[in-house]
Amino acid sequence: MTIQFDNSYARLPSAFYAEATPAPAPEPSFLAINEDLANELGIDFEWLSSEAGLDLLSGKTRPEGATIIAAAYAGHQFGNFVPQLGDGRAALLGEVIDFNGIRKDIQLKGSGRTAFSRGGDGKAAIGPVLREYIVSEAMHKLGIPTTRALAAVLTGEDVARETLLPGAVLTRVAASHIRVGTFQFFYAREDISSLKTLADYVIERHYPSCASASNRYGALLESVIKRQAELIAQWMMVGFIHGVMNTDNMSISGETIDYGPCAFMDFFDPKTVYSAIDQMGRYAYGNQPGIGQWNLSVLAQSLLPILDEDADKAVEVAKAALDIYPSAFQSAYEKGLRAKLGLAVEDAGDLALWQDLLKHLSDQEVDFTQFFRTLSKIPKEAGAEDEMLQALVGGPSMFGMWLLAWRARLNSETRSDAERQTAMLAVNPAYIPRNHLVEEALEQAEKGNMAFADKLMEVLAEPFEERQGFERYLLAPKPEEVIQNTFCGT
Ligand code: AMP
Ligand code: MG
Repeated sequence: MTIQFDNSYARLPSAFYAEATPAPAPEPSFLAINEDLANELGIDFEWLSSEAGLDLLSGKTRPEGATIIAAAYAGHQFGNFVPQLGDGRAALLGEVIDFNGIRKDIQLKGSGRTAFSRGGDGKAAIGPVLREYIVSEAMHKLGIPTTRALAAVLTGEDVARETLLPGAVLTRVAASHIRVGTFQFFYAREDISSLKTLADYVIERHYPSCASASNRYGALLESVIKRQAELIAQWMMVGFIHGVMNTDNMSISGETIDYGPCAFMDFFDPKTVYSAIDQMGRYAYGNQPGIGQWNLSVLAQSLLPILDEDADKAVEVAKAALDIYPSAFQSAYEKGLRAKLGLAVEDAGDLALWQDLLKHLSDQEVDFTQFFRTLSKIPKEAGAEDEMLQALVGGPSMFGMWLLAWRARLNSETRSDAERQTAMLAVNPAYIPRNHLVEEALEQAEKGNMAFADKLMEVLAEPFEERQGFERYLLAPKPEEVIQNTFCGT
């Protein structure tokens, strides 16, 4: 057994990538391996977890016949354009077709230097690798489009960061690794032919229905905009903060990609920032929808040369596509908030009801996840259960007024209370990868103990199912447990 890779991206012109050679790990061992995902990809799990599998996932052996590459891309980092980024610590082994017939990239991250490494060592430390493994899989289980993690392996070699840390490699699975920054790369070089080739590749791989549109590249831009708007709306509903929404970290396929100093918000506050490198709060929770729009305007600009031969018309097409973003975001966001509030039909006042609630949550510093989980269990009629909510919101506040308004709104619907509660419990997670839990898992793992990380992953695998023995994982951090900063650790 082995994995049969196809290499469609490597068949694109040579400007798209540089060939790469993963650094062989001296003494690899598994940290984590994903049986469900292996099955979805049609990869024999027994083989994958064997020494031969480990050797492949740690760069020790090259897959036969595969062309391993590092992709070229550019990007705006914190608003500043960098014409040459690219996979500096990642190597694309190739693609496999999954059980849904969808082509998936299999990439090693942390596997050593490439042509795009600049000053970096191309390596990754155990902390960031495990964080990406845990959080990306948790996102998937929450039903949010994301790249996934097939395996994390220790290399048996230390990497030098602020201190020496155990080195690790993540095997990342993605619909593709094409980014907004990939388009910027060719636009900045005025390489219009490659821009077209890239757009055609993306249409064929991700947006086949655009192929028959009267303006296929305009249709592509609209499709990407819609998917991103929906993705970011989904982030907002679970309190996810990406942390580094640079244009090179925005996937064209609409998956969450490049988990660095990402985090889930505990206490509701739109200004929440965890990333230690985001001093200005550019990528704060509440800024994400606006940043998404900004990134997509960069994509639109990069597509201008192929949107129309006439430059003015091209601008019109781009503008018309960008105009979709606010309404696409708003409709996904409102759909999400209705579900979180247990509302089955649309009402014009729902957004105001939501915003009023968010004001209470931020004023009272209420845990976002726990609040909605608890709200899901509150009967339509006032009663003893209300105390669970009051305990979360704290007193004295005007929150009681909001509760009255919510109940009045529930009474305008015909759905039974039991049905409403079941629906809410299916969208308001009990378990999210809370910072203090993730940090604890990483800390233990750095010391060679995976027990806590394994337990955390077990909890996060079923985020909507409350289970006995996992009570601690439901709770917001105690004051002494609160994590202020997360690091990307690159
Ligand atoms: P990221 O912050 O992960 O989006 O990375 C930004 C850019 O820096 C990308 O081009 C990465 O490939 C590159 N990079 C990050 N860490 C390293 C590293 N350890 N060695 C080489 N390149 C890196
Ligand atoms: Mg990146």
